[in-house]
This record gives sequence, structure tokens and C-alpha cells, in this order.
Amino acid sequence: MEIRTELPEIFQSFSQARQAGFISAKEFKESGNPLIGIFCTYFPQELALAMDAVTVGLCASSDETIAEAEKDLPRNLCPLIKSSYGFGKTDKCPYFYFSDLVVGETTCDGKKKMYEYMAQYKPVHVMKLPNSQDEVALDLWKQEIIKMKEVLETQFGVIITDEKLNQAIRLKNEERRALKEFYGLCKQNPAPMTGMELFNVLVGASFDFNREVLPQKIRDLTKKVQEKYENEKKQPMKPRILITGCPMGAATAKVIQAIEDNGAVVVCFENCTGVKAIEELVDETNPDGFEALAQKYLNIGCSCMSPNAKRFELLNGLIDDYSVDGVVEMTLTACHTYNVESLSVKRFVQQQKGKPYTLIETDFGTSDVERINTRMTAFIEML
Ligand code: SF4
Ligand code: SF4
Repeated sequence: MEIRTELPEIFQSFSQARQAGFISAKEFKESGNPLIGIFCTYFPQELALAMDAVTVGLCASSDETIAEAEKDLPRNLCPLIKSSYGFGKTDKCPYFYFSDLVVGETTCDGKKKMYEYMAQYKPVHVMKLPNSQDEVALDLWKQEIIKMKEVLETQFGVIITDEKLNQAIRLKNEERRALKEFYGLCKQNPAPMTGMELFNVLVGASFDFNREVLPQKIRDLTKKVQEKYENEKKQPMKPRILITGCPMGAATAKVIQAIEDNGAVVVCFENCTGVKAIEELVDETNPDGFEALAQKYLNIGCSCMSPNAKRFELLNGLIDDYSVDGVVEMTLTACHTYNVESLSVKRFVQQQKGKPYTLIETDFGTSDVERINTRMTAFIEML
């Protein structure tokens, strides 16, 4: 099966954003602004925005540097960790190269131990993320966010004022509102775009560094997609799939393609590539910006939380709102937290929502493309 990458023109400015971003990252650096590399959606990006810095996601999704990473790391580690470390070690990723500071969080064990080695190649700061979501954890996380602010101020010689932070909170919320309107288009049936198109915009938006204009750019695209949907012949109705599980990137887009090649459409991504990090806004009415940030970010339903009730709350609403016919969970090999939690997700989807569920465990290689395709043929025929 050939992996397709071309997209209709309407989506191209977003689908090419990662490549185009290499140049804008360089220009951004040359104008004297810091670039902060991040690995996780728990990082409160508002802190960087408030000091006119840019954040860029460094989570890699390619097997290109895994062999080099395996010289230092165990082979049976998740490919995302190995690939990300490998890009840091080999300096093959321009975004890593341009990053002035790398920020990690104590999420899963593999990632937090990997940061200890990554510090050989870049300045690294690790935020101590609690692994539960109660009041004590909220207070700890707020203190970590304040500490992060102080690290940024010291390292870059800036002051993050309350006013700048509040502006950043409003700006980032605008971006979230615009993205919600965009992916919310897929609540319609038939869906107005493919899952691959949706995925490329979600990934592309995170590599667009002009945050001031990004919300309007997303809204313009939303309008165009909706107008096209209303004025042109609609696609036939197809089985509607929600993807959950580990974050996705170019290498795991093979799962989306296998679903859509078999006649279904991905209407929602619950994972960190999609709504998990976007759905909840930061409370703009809270006079304590740090508390508001702590609340929003701690509520992210990642499997490194125990228990992880927020993930199930989100899944519950999304399955209903997007009229989902089946759930596909994509996990990465050796991702213990998501692989262990997959049993709870399966039970929830099948028993509480009465929907079919399947699990695809994969890595960044292409050797399982045919196997995934065969699995999707059987799953979608059953819907
Ligand atoms: S899945 Fe969890 S650890 Fe990975 S990026 Fe998302 S929140 Fe962070
Ligand atoms: S995919 Fe799983 S193992 Fe890999 S970094 Fe994310 S949470 Fe950790």
C-alpha cells in the first residue's frame, strides 16, 4: 500500500506548514526571539507566548534516527522517545537545532529518563508533573508553572508580567476556539473533509509560528471548507471513526490511511494530535493566571495520570457529539501507560457506549502497513 501525502489545494498551506516552518524558525531566531522545544501538551504554551517566544513540538515521528538512539537507549522503548532522542543526538531536526531550551515533563517513565541523556545536547528543564488530578496535585502543578516562569525569566533575561500572561491566555484561547470550530465541522454527516485532511491541519497549525494571525487563518479555512461542503456534491455517508491513544505523526498516518482506504472516515482525533489538548480553554475570568493555567493543563486526560477519568469524560462526549460508529485505538509499541489503559478504553467503548472498538499497536516502520490494512478491512466491514 502506498502512503499518500498530497492533499487538495484548500488544505495546502497547513499541510506544508512543518516544512515551511523550518525557514520561519530560522528567521524568528535571527530576529532575536527565543525558540522553546517541547515534547508534551502539558507545557503551558502561554508562558512562552507571554515573553514573545515561540514553542515548537519536538516529538519525532520517523524511524530515521532510531538506530542511533538505540546505541544509548533500550530497544524496547517507545519509538516516539527513541526517535525524539535520536534527532537530538544527531542534530538532524532543524527545530531541535534552533531550540534555545528544551522543556520536558515527568510524564511516562521512558520519557523522563530520556531527558537526563538529552541534557548532553541542549539545555533541558523538566517540569514535575503530578500523576493525579486532585487538589494537592493542582497546587503542586501551579508551583511548577511558577517555577517554569522563573526559569524562563532567568534564562532569557525577560519579565513575564501578569498583563502579558493574560494577553497570552486570551490569544491561545482564540486559537483553541478557532481549532474547535474547524474540527467541529466533522460533526456533520457526511463529514465535510477526510480524516487525513483534518489531521494535516491539526499538525500544520502547531508549526505556524505567527500566533497573532493563526486564529483568523484557521477561521478562513473553516469557512472555505463549509462553503465547499454546502455548494458541492457531498460524499456518500461512511462509517465514522474516532481515533484515540498515543499522539500521531507522519509515520503513524498509515492508520488513518488504512481506515479511509477501507471506506470509513476519521471524524475525530481524541489523542494529543487532536482535541485532548484543545477542547478545554483556560479560564480567562480567573484573576490568578497561574492557577487558571494549572487547572486547564492538569485536566488533560493522558494515560500517565492515574486514575485517568478525564480521558473517559472526553471520550464519552466525543463519541456522542461526532456520531461515532467505531473507535480505533492506536498505541505505540512499548508505551506501557496507553497499552495498559487500552483494556479500560475497550470496556468503556464496548460496554458503556455500545460501539465497536479495536486496538492497533504499531511503531514508526512500514513493515506492518499491510497487516493494519487487513485489520481495518475486517473492522470496518463489521460496522
Ligand atoms: S500522550 Fe501524554 S505524554 Fe504524550 S504528549 Fe500527550 S499528554 Fe504528553
Ligand atoms: S507514546 Fe507513551 S511511552 Fe511514548 S512518550 Fe508518549 S506516553 Fe511515553
